[in-house]
Amino acid sequence: MIYWDNNATTPVLPEVREAVLPFLGDSFANPSSPYGAAREASAMMSRSREALGALIDADPDQLVFTSGGTESIAMAWQIAVQNLPHRTHFITTSTEHAAVLETAELFCRRGLSVDVLPVDRSGCIDLEALRGLCSENTALISMMAANNETGILNPVTEIAEIAHECGALYHCDGVQIAGKHSFSVGEASVDLFSVSGHKFHAPKGIGALYLRPDLKAGDWLPGGDQEFGRRAGTENVPGIAGMGKAAELAENFLKIGWGEQTSILDGVVSSLKTSLGGVHEVGEAVERLPNTRLLLFNGVESEALLALLDMEGVCASSGSACASGSQEPSHVLRAMGYEEDRVRSALRLSTSRLSTQKEGERVLELLNKLIPRLRSFNPA
Ligand code: PLP
Repeated sequence: MIYWDNNATTPVLPEVREAVLPFLGDSFANPSSPYGAAREASAMMSRSREALGALIDADPDQLVFTSGGTESIAMAWQIAVQNLPHRTHFITTSTEHAAVLETAELFCRRGLSVDVLPVDRSGCIDLEALRGLCSENTALISMMAANNETGILNPVTEIAEIAHECGALYHCDGVQIAGKHSFSVGEASVDLFSVSGHKFHAPKGIGALYLRPDLKAGDWLPGGDQEFGRRAGTENVPGIAGMGKAAELAENFLKIGWGEQTSILDGVVSSLKTSLGGVHEVGEAVERLPNTRLLLFNGVESEALLALLDMEGVCASSGSACASGSQEPSHVLRAMGYEEDRVRSALRLSTSRLSTQKEGERVLELLNKLIPRLRSFNPA
């Protein structure tokens, strides 16, 4: 199998699996218990917090373990309500992940007001338009660091500045950037930052939220006093062990850099443009994640292309995955103003540090074979 869908999830690395195993075996004690057998888990949790803190340059004590990106995002929005209870206005963008957009919908249904800032054709937001939406009633700006479908990066530091000018908080969905691009929570001055372990080779169902030290975070989930009273519920100890190891490995990998993997990916893209024609690279002119390229192929339905790739043992995506297993046409491309037939022709290739030149050659060979075949059925 060639797995080039690493923005959907990543394989668990062998070292990560090793780190998880003791906590599925003899070291099963509840980390909140008072006896010696629990201390191994609580010591491991401190190490994992340190490792994750090092990856995103955040104070480890300000990291709260959660069940993943979706929960961290919901928690961030609730924390804004808890900390700025008299403010009722929220701002996000049209290209956010469903975890943010659906939270925004929920807040609207509860009577809060949400502005959804549009993006331009290259997926970028207008910072002056953002500034214009802010007021002393704005509680939160929630905008991602890197888009999961296009890989396009947002100007996080500038967004944080704009939020702070009006006394609002800035939540940054960091799910796709963590482990793929160096990121400093401190330098970017974000107040809340969401992370998900399975996007950087940890198991699924584990994530974290960074929160600024002065923010209160107790009200949103009633229950026990875990995570220093900031997130109730017995922690996912094996998951935390895995995410800590994965964070450590990701930090080491970032020191080497993505150079080799990016040149494999960009090599495939530029060869396709030359050999096939009618290939459009979304966000080509703007800064993107080093592992993500979203391509549109004239005269091709991505659903058919993905099915043929699957038959050849290649996993890729048309953009966002959906729980039913089918692929919904991308709301991100629609928000960028692409016409419906273009939206339905998208192929996202997202690599990982495990991706190889040999895989790139095979992907290229297959696309060079399959796309002309699909175009011949659809002579537009
Ligand atoms: N935010 C972004 C940008 C994502 O890509 C995802 C997952 O694809 C999420 C949030 C949700 O994360 P999780 O799957 O850990 O709930």
